[in-house]
Amino acid sequence: MTTVETTSADSPETPRRTPEELARAEAHAAHNYHPLPVVLSHAEGAWTTDVDGRRLLDMLAGYSALNFGHGHPALLAAAHAQLDRVTLTSRAFVHDRFADFTARLAALCGKDLVLPMNTGAEAVESGLKVARKWGYDVKGVQADQAEIVVMSGNFHGRTTTVVGFSDDPDARNGFGPFTPGFVRVPYADLGALRAAITPRTVAVLLEPIQGEAGVLIPPPGYLPGVRDLCTEHGVLMIADEIQSGLGRTGRTFACDHEGVVPDIYLLGKALGGGVVPVSAVVADRDVLGVLHPGQHGSTFGGSPLACAVGLAVVELLETGEFQHRATQLGVVLHDRLAALSGHGVTGFRARGLWAGVDIDPALGTGRDLCEALLARGVLAKDTHGSTIRLAPPLVISTEDLHWGLDQLAAALT
Ligand SMILES: *Cc1c(COP(=O)(O)O)cnc(C)c1O
Repeated sequence: MTTVETTSADSPETPRRTPEELARAEAHAAHNYHPLPVVLSHAEGAWTTDVDGRRLLDMLAGYSALNFGHGHPALLAAAHAQLDRVTLTSRAFVHDRFADFTARLAALCGKDLVLPMNTGAEAVESGLKVARKWGYDVKGVQADQAEIVVMSGNFHGRTTTVVGFSDDPDARNGFGPFTPGFVRVPYADLGALRAAITPRTVAVLLEPIQGEAGVLIPPPGYLPGVRDLCTEHGVLMIADEIQSGLGRTGRTFACDHEGVVPDIYLLGKALGGGVVPVSAVVADRDVLGVLHPGQHGSTFGGSPLACAVGLAVVELLETGEFQHRATQLGVVLHDRLAALSGHGVTGFRARGLWAGVDIDPALGTGRDLCEALLARGVLAKDTHGSTIRLAPPLVISTEDLHWGLDQLAAALT
């Protein structure tokens, strides 16, 4: 499993398909991405195969959407079985996969109710709507006066409302005007948060670990401090666990590391098992109960196929096996990165099987390093200049993880 095969496709006689496929992929697609020069055709577990038959170790896992690896047998079985029964009903009718998914996901979160959606950005948008409605109906904020506090460096998706409160110029410039009602404060600064809360504040939205920003982990005490401020001021704490949740950090939720329970969980990515987009807003009845028929919806959200796969994901998480693996493999990841510090690595932040690694800019950009890793058979992604993000599937073997980190070490020298 740990060697990259050099197939005849690499010999000069056999033309490689990759350049042609890359050109074809560029020809008629919007250029909103700058993918690495690789064209994948198959994948299983932590390994992918490209169109030239080259095997590549996936150290990104779809930004955590593939926590359970590619083609996990239990998830494929659930999807295959459901494809032959019924895939979509719309929420105009109830289907027989809905109850189990919502009940078991609510239980996994320790909450009463689930609002199923599809993508992460939709879960965020839905959570914001719920918070505003709660603010008017329950907290008694004057109509259209609700404020929501967000964090600097946030990443919550790509819809117009969400990019409107981003501070990343690439994400927001050229897409205004934006939705009002958001106040941004520095991340991990309790004083700034306290100062920003007013009687009109209905929610604080944050990532318990900021993934896109480079796996930024707030100092111990910050999340409990946010929880206390929210409780004290009658403000909802919304944790965007779309990337940090569902096993990645070694616990079911990143908030669990600090014993913090938010009022609203936003989930996505791994909830669909890498098979279908499944996201959700999860909260207690006194919060999610503010939505009434006609006030929110989604054609595909909570479809039979989504619920079948989502339930299989919840069942995997109920075993605790993946959280345990993330913890154990995370020790390997942490130790190996610590050994690379000063050898091309200028700093890193890691929790569970998830790390942001700052590369010595003298060695090139994060992109350069990812291209070097690709040449060595490893898929990873840069974020913000000279930082790369490592998030291998939680099913990766210890040997393969070591092999992938060997390639990182070699690429740094
Ligand atoms: C990926 C991500 C989103 C957006 O999810 P999409 O499915 O791409 O819309 C939102 N929040 C966080 C923290 C994410 O990592």
